[in-house]
Amino acid sequence: ASGYTLLRDPHFNKGLAFTEKERDAHYLRGLLPPTTIPQETQVRKMIQHIRQYQVPLQRYMAMMDLQERNERLFYKLLIDHVEELLPIVYTPTVGEACQKYGDIFMRPQGLYISLKEKGRIQEVLRNWPEKNIQVIVVTDGERILGLGDLGCQGMGIPVGKLSLYTALGGVRPSACLPITIDVGTNNERLLNDELYIGLKQRRATGQEYSELMHEFMTAVKQTYGEKVLIQFEDFANHNAFDLLEKYRSTHLVFNDDIQGTASVVLAGLVAALKLVGGNLADHKFLFLGAGEAGTGIAELIALETSKQTNAPLDEVRKNIWLVDSKGLIVSSRKESLQHFKKPWAHEHEPVKNLLDAVNKIKPTVLIGTSGQGSAFTKEVVEAMASINEKPIILSLSNPTSQSECTAEEAYTWTQVIEPACIFALKFERIFGSTLTILFHFSQGRAIFASGSPFSPVEYKGKVFVPGQANNAYIFPGFGLGLIMSGTIRVHDDLLLAASEALAEQVSEENFEKGLIFPPFTNIRKISAHIAAKVAAKAYELGLATRLPQPKDLVKFAESCMYTPAYRSYR
Ligand code: NAP
Ligand code: MN
Repeated sequence: ASGYTLLRDPHFNKGLAFTEKERDAHYLRGLLPPTTIPQETQVRKMIQHIRQYQVPLQRYMAMMDLQERNERLFYKLLIDHVEELLPIVYTPTVGEACQKYGDIFMRPQGLYISLKEKGRIQEVLRNWPEKNIQVIVVTDGERILGLGDLGCQGMGIPVGKLSLYTALGGVRPSACLPITIDVGTNNERLLNDELYIGLKQRRATGQEYSELMHEFMTAVKQTYGEKVLIQFEDFANHNAFDLLEKYRSTHLVFNDDIQGTASVVLAGLVAALKLVGGNLADHKFLFLGAGEAGTGIAELIALETSKQTNAPLDEVRKNIWLVDSKGLIVSSRKESLQHFKKPWAHEHEPVKNLLDAVNKIKPTVLIGTSGQGSAFTKEVVEAMASINEKPIILSLSNPTSQSECTAEEAYTWTQVIEPACIFALKFERIFGSTLTILFHFSQGRAIFASGSPFSPVEYKGKVFVPGQANNAYIFPGFGLGLIMSGTIRVHDDLLLAASEALAEQVSEENFEKGLIFPPFTNIRKISAHIAAKVAAKAYELGLATRLPQPKDLVKFAESCMYTPAYRSYR
C-alpha cells in the first residue's frame, strides 16, 4: 500500500512514530514532518490534548476521533489512563453521546441492521471488513442505560463496550463487532427529529421483531461459527429475558445487563461481607427495580447462597425482596406479574413505597436498579442507617443522573446518631465508660458503590472513596475467558467463577478505604484472573473446546491479550 493509505488506516497508522527506515520503506517521505516521536511521548501529548477540553462530550469526541485515526494510540492512552478515561468512553459520558449521536458523528462506526435489511442480513455481515470476529455486542437501543429508548443512536453503547473488551480484556480490536438492530423507535422526540439517523417508525414487535432477530442470530452463527460470543446489551426487559432464554442453548450468548451485572454485584457483596460480617444467608436484600439488573442480581445471589448452604433455591430466595414501579412484589400480585418477577413474589401484605418497604423488610443491603435518579431519599437512607450499623447501599443505575443517590448523600445521611447512642452519651456522663460504644455507632456509615463513578467525598475531615459497581469489571475478562478456551455455551457457574475471581482481587488496602471493588488501574491483571477462572470452570464443565487445556490459565490469558504497542513495519 502507498504511504498515504498507510497513514489513513487507523489499524496501521502510527503518526510521527514512523521511524526513518519505515518512512523510506513505505513511501512516507515528505508525508510527515521530519521529527519522529515515540508512542510514549504521543500518549503524553494526547492526554494533555484531551484534558484541554472542559466539556466531557468534547473529550469523548476527541477520543472517538483518535480511535478512527490511530487505533493503537487510542488503546494505549485508554489503558494508561483508564480511571480518567473510562467515564469518557463509557458511563456517564457515553450516555450523553448516545442522546446526541446523530449530531456529533461524521463517520459511522459499527454495523447497522434495520428492518430494511430483512432477508439480507448475511449479506450485510459480509460487508464488514473483518472476517475473524470473536465478540459481537448488539443492542436494539430500546433501553440505553437508564435513558430509555434512543433507537438507532444506541450505537454508542456497543462501540463503547467493545473498546472496553479491548482495553480492559485484551480482545483484539479487529475481532470486535458492534451492531445496532434498528426496528424503529417509540421515542417521540426522535421520530419528530428531521435529522434522526434511524428508521422513522414505531418499533416493530411480536413476530416481525422475533423474525428479524432470528435471522440475525442465524446469520451470525453461519458467518462466524459456533464460538462467536454474542453479548446482548441494553435491550428492554420484555425482549432481553426471552432472547437469552431462546438462544442460550444454541448460541454463545451473554446478557450483560442481567448476567454481567449480577456477577459484578455478587463479587462486591461477597467483598462487603468482609467489612460487615456474616454470610450471604445472614443478610436480607431489598432491590428498587425488578428488571434485568435487579432480578438478574437477585437470582445469582440466591444461587450462590443455595450452593453455600445446601438450602433449596426457593428457600433462600425468601431473603431477597424487590420493589418495582407498583411497590413491593408480593404473592397477591402473582397473576399480573411478568415471569421474571414471579420467583420473588413472597408472602407479605402489599407495600406501596420504598420507605415503607425498608421499614417493613428491614434489609441489610439496599440495591438500586430502577433507573430512577434520587429514588433513595434522605428518609430511605436514614432508615437503612437506623436498621444497620453498616448498611450496604448500591446505587447501580446509570448514567450519573439516574443514580438512586450520590456518594455524598450515602455517606452524610448515614452519619446518624441513633437514639441508642444519645442514650449512651447520657450514661457516659455518669459512668464515663461508654464512649467507645458511641463512637462505634456514629461511624456506622454506608458501604457504598455506584454504577457510574463519583469522586471521593470529604466529610468531617475523613475521605470516603466510593467504589464503582459496574459490569465493566466482569464482561471483558469473562469474554476473554470464553474466547481463549473456545467455550461454546454460557453456564451460570461461569458467572459465579467470574464473581469469585473479582472478589479475590479486592486487597486489604482497598478494604481499609471501605472499597468493595478493586480500582480500575489494575483491570488488565484482574481481567486475566477472571478469564482464567472462567476458563477453568468451562473446562471442568466440558464446555471448552480448545484442547488440550493450557497448564497455567492466568499466564495463558495474559499471553492472549492484545497490547497496543506499535509494531515495526519491515
Ligand atoms: P429494566 O429491566 O427496565 O428494569 C427497571 C426496573 O425499575 C423495573 O422493574 C421498573 O418497574 C423499575 N422502576 C422504574 N421506575 C420505578 C420507580 N419509580 N419505582 C420503583 N421501581 C421503578 O432496566 P434494567 O436493565 O434492570 O436497568 C435498570 C438500571 O440499571 C439502568 O439505569 C441501568 O443503567 C442500570 N444498570 C447498571 C449496571 C451496572 O453495571 N452498574 C448494569 C446494568 C444496568 P416495572 O417493572 O414496574 O416497570
Ligand atoms: Mn447495559
